[in-house]
Amino acid sequence: MASFDVIIVGAGPSGSAMALNLGRFNRRVLLLEKAFFPRDKICGDGLSGKSIALLRELGLEEKVAEQSSEKISGISISAPNGSKMDIPMAPNYGYCCRRELFDTILFQKAKQTAQTIEGFQVTDLIQQNGFVVGVKGIDSKTKESKEFFGKVIVGADGANSIVATKLGLNHNPPEHHIVGLRGYYENVEGLTDKIELHFVDGVLPGYFWIFPLEKKGFANVGIGMVTQQVNKQKANLKKIMEKAIVENSLFKDRFKNAKLLDGIKGWGLPVGSIKRKSAGNGWIFLGDAASLIDPFTGEGIGNALLSAKIAAQEIEQCLRSNNVSEQSLQRYSKRLDQELYPELKTSYSLQRMANKKWLLNFIINKAKKKPAVAQYLGESLANEKPRKRLAGPLALIKLFFL
Ligand SMILES: Cc1cc2nc3c(=O)[nH]c(=O)nc-3n(C[C@H](O)[C@H](O)[C@H](O)COP(=O)(O)OP(=O)(O)OC[C@H]3O[C@@H](n4cnc5c(N)ncnc54)[C@H](O)[C@@H]3O)c2cc1C
Repeated sequence: MASFDVIIVGAGPSGSAMALNLGRFNRRVLLLEKAFFPRDKICGDGLSGKSIALLRELGLEEKVAEQSSEKISGISISAPNGSKMDIPMAPNYGYCCRRELFDTILFQKAKQTAQTIEGFQVTDLIQQNGFVVGVKGIDSKTKESKEFFGKVIVGADGANSIVATKLGLNHNPPEHHIVGLRGYYENVEGLTDKIELHFVDGVLPGYFWIFPLEKKGFANVGIGMVTQQVNKQKANLKKIMEKAIVENSLFKDRFKNAKLLDGIKGWGLPVGSIKRKSAGNGWIFLGDAASLIDPFTGEGIGNALLSAKIAAQEIEQCLRSNNVSEQSLQRYSKRLDQELYPELKTSYSLQRMANKKWLLNFIINKAKKKPAVAQYLGESLANEKPRKRLAGPLALIKLFFL
């Protein structure tokens, strides 16, 4: 029975970043992870400007860049009618880094500041007097059951969070959830230094993506769609993805020599179009466990890293004042509200706009012809603040007249 200031369940981007941020405060931190690194996580592997800025703060941008695609300079988009356009991201840029590599980089660094145990699956919470005070779990190597006690327990354990489940808070309403499928392909032709988002008929709201990786011709290819629509249309996403690769005129030639490695795999994305309770007596949630994925782009790594940064600062304050009650830890939830929810709300409006085939066709056609529209869209996709403009009530009128 060991005791810590903070116990973090899950060593994905949010959990490892949490350990790194807490390291600055010299706290006794335990990071528990059920898998062994390096391990895969189903994802698009895309790192946006926000993720890069937060990695830079953790001193990890260079290390990640070494294992990534070349610098991503823009986005290629196609409309349901097949028309295409390129929009630059400058002055921002991104990378695509396979999660097997990315998460290992973060975890290795987190090991320098926290005690870590791999192969430890948390199975339950220990609660006393209305507070979460510890976790129970099983060490997969020794098959031993163990308990650990901490002043704050952090649920950084992703979309199927055991911490949220045990607190009765892991609800994923289908209108606020996306299903995503991913495959790694070799020998894909026509990859550039741009990520590709294709709004394909039958996958709205959602998109088909092709993201270049660290070797020539190597790509992360996937498809994502709002779960409510998948259920409504009884859509078989795997079949839609395979069909698009073989039959769609935009892709079929590019995939004619391509080889799928290790199958197409799926995972859920709890998106931030609804707020999930993110703090209580002795506990908080980060990243996907807090349902912080962008509902329009499907990006969650940046928000996972940001939630870890905010949480570390606020938990430190709570520990200093010796008060880890819900009221005290809600400082974290309030900051999430201020720093993230306006952006998540905007992205939800954009997701609903992207449900309309005619609108996507119109906007993309227009951007193809008018550089001012392309620039407007580019800025909006790459930056959170201009994105707000795009979802505002006057944006459509502006797009019509630009
Ligand atoms: C198909 C798909 C495509 C995506 N594409 C992108 C993209 O291109 N860019 C982007 O920014 N985001 C993308 N996302 C979202 C992104 O993957 C997540 O937002 C991100 O992984 C969240 O990080 P996290 O640390 O909160 O959770 P996770 O990365 O899920 O990490 C959770 C960790 O907790 C561990 N764990 C779980 N349960 C337990 C337990 N009981 N005990 C101990 N450990 C446990 C897991 O093994 C895992 O290591 C995509 C998601 C999907 C599904």
